[in-house]
Amino acid sequence: MTRFWQTCTSLTTASRGWLIAQQPRLREIVGGATFIRPRPAKRNNGFASTLPFRHHPATTMFPMKLIQFIKTISAVLALAFAGPAVAKDSKTLDVYWVDVEGGGGTLIVTPAGESILIDTGMPGGRDPGRLHEAATQVAGVKQIDHLIVTHFHIDHFGGAAELSEKMPIKNVWDNGIPERDPDGRANSNFLLRIKPYRNMKVGKRHVIQPGTELPLRQADGTAKLRVRCVAAMQKFVPVPKETQRNPLTDKVKWVAEDTTDNANSVAVIVELGGFRFWDGGDLTQNTEARLVTPHNRVGTVDVYQVNHHGLDFSNNPIFIQSLEPTVSVMNNGVTKGCGASSFAAVKSAKVRAMYQLHKNLRADIENNATDEFIANLTRDCDAHHIHMSVAPNGQKYTISIPDKGHSRTYKTRTK
Ligand SMILES: [Zn+2]
Repeated sequence: MTRFWQTCTSLTTASRGWLIAQQPRLREIVGGATFIRPRPAKRNNGFASTLPFRHHPATTMFPMKLIQFIKTISAVLALAFAGPAVAKDSKTLDVYWVDVEGGGGTLIVTPAGESILIDTGMPGGRDPGRLHEAATQVAGVKQIDHLIVTHFHIDHFGGAAELSEKMPIKNVWDNGIPERDPDGRANSNFLLRIKPYRNMKVGKRHVIQPGTELPLRQADGTAKLRVRCVAAMQKFVPVPKETQRNPLTDKVKWVAEDTTDNANSVAVIVELGGFRFWDGGDLTQNTEARLVTPHNRVGTVDVYQVNHHGLDFSNNPIFIQSLEPTVSVMNNGVTKGCGASSFAAVKSAKVRAMYQLHKNLRADIENNATDEFIANLTRDCDAHHIHMSVAPNGQKYTISIPDKGHSRTYKTRTK
């Protein structure tokens, strides 16, 4: 995520400093209804008197300061005339993949304006801060209506308690807090790590089950919205009626059973009309295969969030081929995820576009999408996010990397 003043790349350090100082005011101007118009000058400065520049009169500035001032005011006006950066003015379904550097942090805003956050990144300030900023300054929501924690690994539940101190979390959905290390390790500090999550103040806690549907408001005039859990604790929704045997069943290569909590991940399908998006946390290969063979309980999807950040414990090729996604989005880190077999599995499903939050900077540099589809190319990054906006009728969706100017529209698949 780029803070808005970081988007003003032409600004000098001093101007950036000034913008940071003015941030609350700017947010009010940009996010609210206030529309700034440059009015004819009474004095010689030519700028609207509504702007908070009284302490900074242009007429008394030195030339360099004046240049900075002009750059600053240009940036302010550009932001103002660009329209609201925050308010949700259309009935789209929006998904933001927030860069939590190889953790989970997928923020969804429904056409009715409700917010669902799937996983919360790591504790320690950075990830809760990025999630809070994405929610309030990019997505324009004031609270998290539903938090889904897919499983009890620190890169998924870790940021929740800090986030709950920054903004209200109304409902928490998880597998139920384990009483001992969910990976079965005897010497584990899990009980210490989970304490803030256990003690955080939230509206209501729920144990999610396969078949659970979030109680969401429908917006007028849009396709039907549905967020449904299809797997949790290695239990699944029933096979839909009249589902044929999956022809890929006999091709599954079973691997050693995963005894970690990854296999227990909550998986959800987000639907708007015919559009379908998969977020399966860190589900691992055998559980993935059981979900789609011998009968595919999930069906096909349009957008596949690559399981487990693209690590090779996950992303069974038969699973992805059965889901037949058009687009994949990987929430990987600089050296985490983007595994060779995961990458090959996604490719084997013949997706049209592969997005990544980060470029894989390990030696196996070949396991990368093309740069255009990667939000962050360098180790020291500005945490750019990936955004998806699904049309209110669910028939098409646009995926963009706003900070790079990348934007592409895809048609929802016909089943
Ligand atoms: Zn993870």
